[in-house]
Amino acid sequence: MTHTSAAPTDLDRARAKYRAERDKRLDPSRREILDLSAREKLVEDPFTDVAPREPLHDTVDVMVVGGGFGGLLAAAHLRKAGVERIRIVEKGGDVGGVWYWNRYPGAMCDVESYVYLPMLEELDYIPRRRYSYGPEILAHAQRLARHFKLYDHALFHTSVTGLKWQERSARWIVRTDRGDEFQARYVVVAHGSFTSLKLPAIEGIDSFEGALFHTSRWDYDYTGGDSSSPLTGLGDKRVGVIGTGATAVQIVAPLAESAQRLYVFQRTPSTVAVRDNRETDYAWARSLEPGWQKRRRENFTAVTNGERITEDLVGDGWTVFYHAMLSGDEYGALNPQEVAEQRELTDLEHMEHIRARIDEVVRDPATAEALKPYYRYQCKRPCFHDEYLPAFNRPNVELVDTQGEGVRRITPRGVAVGEVEYPLDCIILATGFDQDSAYVDRVGFDVTGRDGLTLSRKWENGPETLHGVMSSGFPNFFLLPPNYTQGTAAVNFCHTLDETAQHVAVLVAEFERRGVIADVTRQGEEAYVRQVTEGSGLALLGGGGFLKDCTPGRWNNEGDPDGRPRKNVNYPGTSTAYFTMLEEWRHRCEFDELSLTPAPKPSPEVSVAKPVDDERSAR
Ligand code: NAP
Repeated sequence: MTHTSAAPTDLDRARAKYRAERDKRLDPSRREILDLSAREKLVEDPFTDVAPREPLHDTVDVMVVGGGFGGLLAAAHLRKAGVERIRIVEKGGDVGGVWYWNRYPGAMCDVESYVYLPMLEELDYIPRRRYSYGPEILAHAQRLARHFKLYDHALFHTSVTGLKWQERSARWIVRTDRGDEFQARYVVVAHGSFTSLKLPAIEGIDSFEGALFHTSRWDYDYTGGDSSSPLTGLGDKRVGVIGTGATAVQIVAPLAESAQRLYVFQRTPSTVAVRDNRETDYAWARSLEPGWQKRRRENFTAVTNGERITEDLVGDGWTVFYHAMLSGDEYGALNPQEVAEQRELTDLEHMEHIRARIDEVVRDPATAEALKPYYRYQCKRPCFHDEYLPAFNRPNVELVDTQGEGVRRITPRGVAVGEVEYPLDCIILATGFDQDSAYVDRVGFDVTGRDGLTLSRKWENGPETLHGVMSSGFPNFFLLPPNYTQGTAAVNFCHTLDETAQHVAVLVAEFERRGVIADVTRQGEEAYVRQVTEGSGLALLGGGGFLKDCTPGRWNNEGDPDGRPRKNVNYPGTSTAYFTMLEEWRHRCEFDELSLTPAPKPSPEVSVAKPVDDERSAR
């Protein structure tokens, strides 16, 4: 067992400090975000021109919404299961999802490439570095699409505007913003978590006269350079970055190198631990035994779930913390309260290391102090970087600590904090993504299932699903559940996507084999919803009870963890337990929670020459 050097008195001091830092940020206005519908410029695709094309009126076997890793994996596993006509419909100009959009300088994945990038063995690819940069990840998404021939029917720069189940033909009618109206026998929505931009409703934001963009719509025409070379357009520019989350931590160093002056506007500091990236050792890669990626990925997920395993194969910044946080059993005779205190001490020790690193790296004591995160490690998404902190030693870089208030006012000339106006040529919003609006709003279209039931109405008070993957009244319809949609949230998001994608593909293949339409029964769904809402729904070590004392953020529902809608939860167990539950359920092949009805006889491909109207014309 790891012994901590932090003493209980330190714990009292830390608790008081953490609460004070939380209290000064508890402000309901932090939830206010901009409506982007009238601000198309901010969301349009700066990377690929939209190619004109004729609307489509045909039929596919499966329509997959989203061409990120979720959609690609669903389509790849479906292809492996023998499904032929698969159509990915994607808003961006290519596959890649978050990696298509997030091309900001320095973009990289914080999860080790050998466990993050899917299907490495199958595609015979070894990433160039331990932590891959954005372009390599995007190229891997494209490699997946080529390998499984997923470009064949794909539609890019196309957004679904509505889905409607047609009982007579047992097909989904798909409408898009490009005038398409085609049919699909199955639908998989792999929408992801980082699709809708989150722009804080800052007073005066529309009045700014300089350049302004979100990190996921990087304007290289303005900044010059590319994701890995100097931003040559910024040599005479004063740049402001709003936000200090995982994205900001990656863009600050490249901006610092290129901008004449850089201001980083901080509301809450992130934890920034050692990155230690390195080139791949190809001799090591050649020595890997078949099946290595599955083993490594499962091991990483187990460690970051806090499961007890003898070996930590990845051994990086993520796993070191979870390894130190021992499981309850290892605390021997301690009672639950004592276990909780031991864990808190371990957490404190870890946070002390993170804060000490700032003092070691950042020369100006006031800046160093302002950069220190005062909360428990699991309160916020941890970050890892080796150039972020040193950037604040540069003479052209200034941290503007807003004392927990955040930026509240933008003027035509720049950003105002208190009485000080910071004149800027460019504002970069590193303010993240909306992951909390109603599911249908984030996805951008409604789904009309049986008897005119819409998903927006059914999920008015939160999701109602079986396993986070299917929902009663919506036959042959699947989702790869984003966080808090009754699925799970492994640290390695691609692991979650791959497991749920495999699940969906196995189900579709089985329904095809049986020649049935599959819907969830109300009883089956109610039982699962009861299970997830009555469980804790949080797979955080220590159960997440500490979240109410955290500085506000997404992981604690902006400071109100008990206020999160009751059904917006994850499976009440670790992600490993969730994956096992899915696998055992589908292998039992009993499907008691499903209603399976005979599918209409397969018909040759139907060309829907004119719009298929609603059920009235069908009857
Ligand atoms: P984020 O984590 O939501 O961070 C947004 C930042 O903006 C926070 O620092 C927030 O402060 C700040 N902010 C919001 N409004 C503000 C205001 N008015 N004034 C000043 N600051 C303000 O967004 P993100 O950094 O884009 O990351 C989003 C997600 O993407 C992450 O959770 C992560 O999962 C993912 N990501 C992954 C990788 C990867 O390695 N795979 C890399 C980057 C991002 P508060 O903390 O006070 O709210």
